[in-house]
Amino acid sequence: MTTTNPLVLPYGEAAIAEAARVIRAGGCVAVPTETVYGLAADATDSRAVAGIYEAKGRPSFNPLIVHVSDLAAAQRIAVFDDIARDLAARFWPGPLTLVLPVRPEAGIASLVTAGLDTIAIRVPRHRAMQALLAVTGKPLAAPSANVSGGISPTRAAHVAASLRERIPLVIDDGATEAGLESTIVRGTEILRPGPLTAEDLFSGEGRSPEGSIESPGPATLRPSPEHGTVVAPGQLDSHYAPSKPVRLNAAGAEDGEWLIGFGAVAGDESLSASGDLTEAAANLFDALHRADATAAATIAIAPVPETGIGIAINDRLRRAAHPR
Ligand code: AMP
Ligand code: MG
Repeated sequence: MTTTNPLVLPYGEAAIAEAARVIRAGGCVAVPTETVYGLAADATDSRAVAGIYEAKGRPSFNPLIVHVSDLAAAQRIAVFDDIARDLAARFWPGPLTLVLPVRPEAGIASLVTAGLDTIAIRVPRHRAMQALLAVTGKPLAAPSANVSGGISPTRAAHVAASLRERIPLVIDDGATEAGLESTIVRGTEILRPGPLTAEDLFSGEGRSPEGSIESPGPATLRPSPEHGTVVAPGQLDSHYAPSKPVRLNAAGAEDGEWLIGFGAVAGDESLSASGDLTEAAANLFDALHRADATAAATIAIAPVPETGIGIAINDRLRRAAHPR
């Protein structure tokens, strides 16, 4: 088997124009941020987002961080409270990701949030990601640009060596600054430690006057010492699961079941009638939500092949079917 390397273009107008072309066509490109190199795709295009998972060979669907150009763009996608507005004012653009309620009307693909009603969002500082956001005008979902289980890339050469022919393009702008994934915060809780520490974020000192909100505001803006705690990274207690029993590997529907089909199993609706795994991944969370909203007592799901992105689909389906 021959492998080829992706095109590596130095940061500049030509690189951004080519990257924007790939993004608009539903592809994904590697782009530096101030944390690590990210693998970016249009967050409103479910197939493009499925392409991120395919390229990374991720065996599961974690919700992805969405990058936007500024606070106004973030507010069109997520609902901000006072704490979030204060953090955004002080640390954006920068390596801080906020987990906030998502606005359904923003059109973010459900594969980005893994079906959750919250979204992880940030405004990056890096000129390359900022330029790509400006030229595409799209919110960009972007996990680290490495194959699943690999080390996060801090140089274009790391990306090329890891993802090789799985992606068309890497924008090279040298080594990333932080070399560490962004700090993820929900309320005053740190979900993932990162370049910004609990002290940076939540201690009274270091709060710039222009960053503070207009009114003195609620006491929550002066967090007590128990705030800024770190919970296990990647922990997702609220991971979306249907409210009903789920039966896997169903060849047909039994009484009272809503059948989600795939390939030859038609069902009440299908993840992909043609048996296309990328299409199935793109439809997965919407199909589960729709099934949950029907009057049927049980959700049945046709078998999905355990290959490629089908591995991540089956991982999610097994979790959905796990008795609670
Ligand atoms: P990555 O994009 O690979 O840097 O990882 C994204 C991280 O953000 C993962 O650890 C996710 O668990 C976390 N994350 C994304 N969305 C949410 C959310 N809605 N709630 C909680 N954590 C999230
Ligand atoms: Mg990673």
